[in-house]
Amino acid sequence: MKPTRRRLAVAALALGALLSIPAAAADARTWIVGATVISPERADDGQRMDVLVEGDRIASVVPAQPPGTARDAPVFDATGLYLLPGLIDSHVHLATIPGFSPVMEYRHPLLAREYRAQLPRSFLRYGYTTVIDLIPTDRAVVDAFLAAPAHPDVHHCGALPVQDGYPSHFAPGVVRKRIFPDYVVEPGAADADHAPQAVVERVRKGGAICIKTFFERGFGRDRNLPVPSAELFGALMKSARAAGMPVLLHASSIEAQRFGVEGGTDIFAHGLWNWGDANASPTLPQPAREVLDRVAGKKIGYMPTLQVIGGLRVLFEPGYFDLPAVRRVVPPSMLEWYRSPAGRWFKDDLAGGASDELMRARLGETLQRGAESTRYLAQKRAFFLFGTDTPSGPTPGNLPGLNGYLEMQRLVAAGVSLRQLLEAATLNNAKAFGLADRVGTIEPGKRANLLLLGRSPLESVEAYDTVRAVWIGGRRLDPAELEAAR
Ligand SMILES: [Zn+2]
Repeated sequence: MKPTRRRLAVAALALGALLSIPAAAADARTWIVGATVISPERADDGQRMDVLVEGDRIASVVPAQPPGTARDAPVFDATGLYLLPGLIDSHVHLATIPGFSPVMEYRHPLLAREYRAQLPRSFLRYGYTTVIDLIPTDRAVVDAFLAAPAHPDVHHCGALPVQDGYPSHFAPGVVRKRIFPDYVVEPGAADADHAPQAVVERVRKGGAICIKTFFERGFGRDRNLPVPSAELFGALMKSARAAGMPVLLHASSIEAQRFGVEGGTDIFAHGLWNWGDANASPTLPQPAREVLDRVAGKKIGYMPTLQVIGGLRVLFEPGYFDLPAVRRVVPPSMLEWYRSPAGRWFKDDLAGGASDELMRARLGETLQRGAESTRYLAQKRAFFLFGTDTPSGPTPGNLPGLNGYLEMQRLVAAGVSLRQLLEAATLNNAKAFGLADRVGTIEPGKRANLLLLGRSPLESVEAYDTVRAVWIGGRRLDPAELEAAR
């Protein structure tokens, strides 16, 4: 693709993100009264407050609605319920359809269309009002998402793999540069267009708010993939700093996270479940401990993404597709396909003939390592971010919206406190991505992205499954109407 056309495409993407306004207008003014307001900048466990929404903004948060104001604004009675800022998922991949390879997307266009029509609604159904796409490979998908009658706010990173490195190696050679145009080359290579500074500048102009890069030598069938040198990563960090953009590093091994810590990365996009030679260790090995001490000490943003592994393991657990929650987030046609012999291809691929029992055990061990690392960081008061990596690959075990709830359950089981979880999914994410002036708390002037729960999320993680209402830019949505099967 010619650079000019590509730039136009990216500019259109950025414009779309700015115009992320739902089609139907919100009430000009609404009072949400009687709820216990839980907002992460408040140290308390919530206070009964009344909240005035004007247009798409929060106008006022007060102990009691001033007398007489009900006359000029409708009142939404939230007595006995819990009002939170809308949740932020800072690690999604909107273009990837769970359970589909890219070829299947062309073979089953109707299923793909139905899935994508439901996608924005599924995120909203579970309270996600902001999502950040870390690898926006398909502008048309994002445009369709933004054209939906109701959808979360969308931001994106520039994806800067090292040339031919992960994850660009998944794309066949002939289309690789088209799908991953923003790859970077080592210093000294004769390709000025792909020097870090040039690429960072290009993605910034295209509306990216962050830089994602990768230290991954490969897993499964792929080994010995190229990874960035310390010199290249240093140049990339320097350019990103100058552009005011945080850098996220894909890294899940001790080697990769040590590389990121030493190179000064801002955010790790994954947890530490690959302990290398120490994978059989029942406790956190010393080299992992040392890296995580530095992650916590330097307050590097950290997404444990336990559902990357959890979303593979569920494929080998009986009854996953029978969960009522699955029917909420994917259309019946897609669910039927997941259950069909053809729809089981990814599971079969992954197992390579191994029994379900063996796969559960293997993936359970990996999950346990990720949980141990997370537990250690929770004790060390690390700067957790909430990112689900939905979907982390073509697994139907990572379904939009629901995957966030499953990730939350895993984090809490691993020892993350309910307050740490709330902060990660709201204010920490907003701060880490430069969005804290707009979202992340319930304060006057912020965008009216809100979530109303039936129970307190500071009392149980299950509270996140009691969604009673969601506001996106001041417009209230009924969770029942956001579900796929109604
Ligand atoms: Zn990812």
